[in-house]
Amino acid sequence: MNARETVLGEAAGELCSPPGAPGTGVISSWDISVGVDGPGTRFVVFTCGCPLRCLYCQNPETWRMRDGRRVTIDEVMAEVGRYRRFITVAGGGVTVSGGEPLLQPRFTADVLRRCRDLGLHTALDTSGLLGDRATDAMLADTDLVLLDIKSADPAGYRRLTGGSLEPTLRFARRLADLGRPTWIRYVLVPGLTDDPGDVDRLARFVAGLGNVEHVDVLPFHRMAAEKYQRLGLTFPLADTPPPGQELLDRVHAQFRAHGVTSV
Ligand code: SF4
Repeated sequence: MNARETVLGEAAGELCSPPGAPGTGVISSWDISVGVDGPGTRFVVFTCGCPLRCLYCQNPETWRMRDGRRVTIDEVMAEVGRYRRFITVAGGGVTVSGGEPLLQPRFTADVLRRCRDLGLHTALDTSGLLGDRATDAMLADTDLVLLDIKSADPAGYRRLTGGSLEPTLRFARRLADLGRPTWIRYVLVPGLTDDPGDVDRLARFVAGLGNVEHVDVLPFHRMAAEKYQRLGLTFPLADTPPPGQELLDRVHAQFRAHGVTSV
């Protein structure tokens, strides 16, 4: 078993592990962000635990649930309360991100519902792999889904993430059927996710959904390399360059050609 298979095996164990005490969840951190985790200024809760191991992951500290901190929902909401006025005035809201928030569906649903009850805009940032764990009620409490479709090619998706693409596509179709506003996030990595045919396939799929406001084309960067070093992990894409302007222009043009807005 190689190192990636080992961590994926650990992640699978966490998938099956019993939930913690009701009213609690495991998080890595919380933070304020602007412009990347939904509209406006966001209070972002980074949950811990993820069943995928994306080669370009920027948050390896969130992979294992056992490395996180158990908190009560009341603690999270007390922190949200400190920023409530600020994020409201700034046209923002609360985003539950990760790791993979749907690894802890009850905790995630409760945070979203309680933020909704406060009149805050809510967003869920997910890979969609565990989309079946999101109930319709949870999605009704979610104003915006940030759905990562990392590749539209099943083999490429598996190479990149270690997981299967189909659950994410199924979740995307369900969000469309429910009419939930969605942003698609797609990380552009030279030599890995830039194949013109794969980009076309993604654009075609997104164009057929009808509920997607835009695709976020996120240029790959290597800013997490130091984080990997600190954690004693190897950053697999240490030698991969960020995409150049020419490649970015080509990919945006491909989305445009399918009538899809990309930013
Ligand atoms: S799904 Fe997100 S948190 Fe999980 S490995 Fe991929 S990039 Fe990292």
